[in-house]
Amino acid sequence: MKISFIQVALATLALLLISLAALQLNKKQIGLFVAGRVIEKQMQRDLLADLPEGLHIGFCGTGSPMPDPTRAGPCIVVIAGNRVFIIDAGSGSTRNLGLMGVPVGGIEAAFLTHFHSDHIADLGELMLQCWVGGSNAAPLPVFGPNGVDDVVAGFNAAYSLDKKYRTAHHGRAIAPPEGAGGAARTIAIGAEENASAIVLDEDGLRITMFNVDHDPIRPAVGYRFDYKGRAVVISGDTAYSASIAEHAKGADILAHEGLQPALVVLINKEAKANGRDIIATITDDILDYHATPEEAAEVAGKAGVSHLVFYHMIPPLPSAFVYAAYLGDARSHFDGAITVAEDGMIFSLPADGGGIETRKEF
Ligand SMILES: [Zn+2]
Ligand SMILES: [Zn+2]
Repeated sequence: MKISFIQVALATLALLLISLAALQLNKKQIGLFVAGRVIEKQMQRDLLADLPEGLHIGFCGTGSPMPDPTRAGPCIVVIAGNRVFIIDAGSGSTRNLGLMGVPVGGIEAAFLTHFHSDHIADLGELMLQCWVGGSNAAPLPVFGPNGVDDVVAGFNAAYSLDKKYRTAHHGRAIAPPEGAGGAARTIAIGAEENASAIVLDEDGLRITMFNVDHDPIRPAVGYRFDYKGRAVVISGDTAYSASIAEHAKGADILAHEGLQPALVVLINKEAKANGRDIIATITDDILDYHATPEEAAEVAGKAGVSHLVFYHMIPPLPSAFVYAAYLGDARSHFDGAITVAEDGMIFSLPADGGGIETRKEF
């Protein structure tokens, strides 16, 4: 018997319909199977074991206070060997640490650049995850310039009830009450424009805090991490700052904030046209205490860094297509590599080597 094309097509269609019906009927089982594999993968993950020995800088939040569906508030993780540090805790960034596979229970300390809400919003969540994630018996040290004690005390007070719930529910072995919250560590730093202070210098790791220019917000600082011949520098929030050029000398990576006025002006114009006076005023006010991508590129050039990575993007960038407009003329001010960071990116600097490896964890 000869089988016609139409018969084959009908049989294929019937098979497809039967498969779809079976899929529909077994949705629950298939869903459980898929979820199980995802959980299995997550549980087997060991980010630190996957990274080469050296210095690493990861982006747990690359956004700013403006709403952005793809970027959490400012947050950077620095990993030196197997020591893990967090710089700033922007809104939603602690969840990103989990997605990136950062072992939150093993975070050694947090560092704050200044006390604007977008940099501290998730500090309570960060302290909670560190505590319970590692069953830690001592609070998370939180380093910062003058004022850090007020911020940490405030979050400790806000989480005082939650702390009791966690211990009562999970037990003292999992949530030892003495380990909850944070312990402020104020670092004294001079008022001069380019003043700096050593925060930590041990076992080949040096962490330096230095002043930046976020006037009228004072204090405002950046951080430099030096480890095994490699260095990363984090600007925090700043306008154009000669202090960053000085303290980033010879670093491999400078993570710098950036505000593109050509894009902010679009928001300002639309806000005015639509009677949104508060947004119009705020988008005027923020122009003078952030750096443009071009200014950041100039700083990177003066410092002679290898790679300039932008974070704390203002305004939010709706897609990668807008990156060129965001960077403006930055490339004409700096010969090295430039990246617009996205949440989940990690840059690795193998010890005593010259290369930079990039990966994205989600
Ligand atoms: Zn900010
Ligand atoms: Zn700020």
